[in-house]
Amino acid sequence: MSISIPKIDATKIHTTIPLGNDESSLKIKEELKDHGCSDKEIAKMDLGDYQELSASWAMSATRIEVAKEIYPELANENLTKWTNRQYDNFIKEKNLETFAQTQSQAEEFKARDITLDDAIWLTKIYYSFDGILKQSDSVLKKQLEDRYQFIIDNIIKQAEIQMGIKANPDPDLYIQVASFAGYKYSNDWFLISVSTHVDYWRGIQEQRTLTAFRALYQYTGTPSSYFTTNLYGTYSQSQHGAHEGIDFVYGGIGTDIFNIATGVVRAPKPSHAEHHFCIYDSGTNKSYSYLHMNSKIVSVGTTLSSVGTNVGTQGNKGNADGAHVHFEVHSGNTDTLSLESDNVLGSISPYQMQVFLGE
Ligand SMILES: [Zn+2]
Repeated sequence: MSISIPKIDATKIHTTIPLGNDESSLKIKEELKDHGCSDKEIAKMDLGDYQELSASWAMSATRIEVAKEIYPELANENLTKWTNRQYDNFIKEKNLETFAQTQSQAEEFKARDITLDDAIWLTKIYYSFDGILKQSDSVLKKQLEDRYQFIIDNIIKQAEIQMGIKANPDPDLYIQVASFAGYKYSNDWFLISVSTHVDYWRGIQEQRTLTAFRALYQYTGTPSSYFTTNLYGTYSQSQHGAHEGIDFVYGGIGTDIFNIATGVVRAPKPSHAEHHFCIYDSGTNKSYSYLHMNSKIVSVGTTLSSVGTNVGTQGNKGNADGAHVHFEVHSGNTDTLSLESDNVLGSISPYQMQVFLGE
């Protein structure tokens, strides 16, 4: 299976996007100042400079707290001496442990000329190595070629902006960032307009996602290896654009799911009725969707005035190849799901929700 688009080393990419006056950039500038950079120095920096610099900084107190919660083996480690890069590498190693191949899987990958890197990325679509190996070479080849083409297109867009060919930053730009603990993919591509998972926000969202995970499964222990398989605003091939929600994973089909937002249970569109669970909160005027449900327990019209009610069980129904909960937030009283074939996010950032804030 030879891929006709040349592979590129995405880890060597320097993000040349200038630091502007948007919320995310201002936070970054503030952080640079706190680390002793002068205004003159900051004015010359781009996002890539910040990413390289911040990797050498010591971990923040929030990051240390989350790290110890997720990895019990770090309990007695003095993380104040760790740099962000050290911790990112630690996460990468831990994530790799979840991708152990059996002898026969390794042999089949070799026989079909599929690299481990490519196989790991394909699990985002087919969930497991066995799921990938069930696909034909031509199907996998198409997925991988699309992926490499996507990476190259984004690099070209970034270069065009830097060279002044494009006057305005493209809202469809993705950038690659180191992921946070609990997320399965080490270096993923995030839609820049979302400003999530990018540098400054990463530690904050790491904490919020863990809080929401615990509430969704009513889980109090230490989560094993990873608890999300896709995040808000990542490049998602299954949605042909930005991933509109967060995919949470714990246990298999039939795991109990608890509401993490309050409101009235609604009847979703017939086409999604079987596996889609929707709650509308008139107080915040937001709709909260839980997808791929195996079963639903709470009936339509019921008011859920607090979080933590068992609303159903986790499944793999609809556009899913493995058991997980796709959680989405929308503005208004809507059961519209975001299935657009483009990068426009029709949903809103779940990280702003109370339960994600841990309040
Ligand atoms: Zn999803």
